[in-house]
Amino acid sequence: MTVARFWRETPRRYNLGGNRCTACQTVYFPPRAVCPTCQQHRQSIGKMEPYTLCGDGEVFSYSVVHEAAEGFEMLAPYVLALIKTPEGPLLTGQVVDVTPEEVQVGLRVRASFRKLREDGRAGVIHYGYKFSPVREKGPREAMASPASQEALARAAARVART
Ligand SMILES: [Zn+2]
Repeated sequence: MTVARFWRETPRRYNLGGNRCTACQTVYFPPRAVCPTCQQHRQSIGKMEPYTLCGDGEVFSYSVVHEAAEGFEMLAPYVLALIKTPEGPLLTGQVVDVTPEEVQVGLRVRASFRKLREDGRAGVIHYGYKFSPVREKGPREAMASPASQEALARAAARVART
């Protein structure tokens, strides 16, 4: 990728900056010049406004990549997923901070910006978004809550009586 193209792509690489048709509220990422939904009625002309995705999403489908592309050798195996965003668009990206075995459809993730690769010749470091799991309260934390401790105590008492 040339430096010029990299810089042109920077806004959406950094901000998840898409756009929205104010006629039908459909969100697009990457941004569209006109809304395909409204195009035939010409309603979207001049009605597209910038819209930044919140970065939340869940795994819609995924695959484990064992043969990494050039420049990504250090990362294999890695998980490449299609992420369904609450705004509508599907994003493609790597899922990090998780083993391939832990990734499943429906896994909640959040976008973050990471170094993607370094282009030695051009001296350009590419950054982009990747997705990491949103950690829910694990079973251990849930058991530590007063209500469940009480339940555990009652269960223990029942066991003790039998
Ligand atoms: Zn529209």
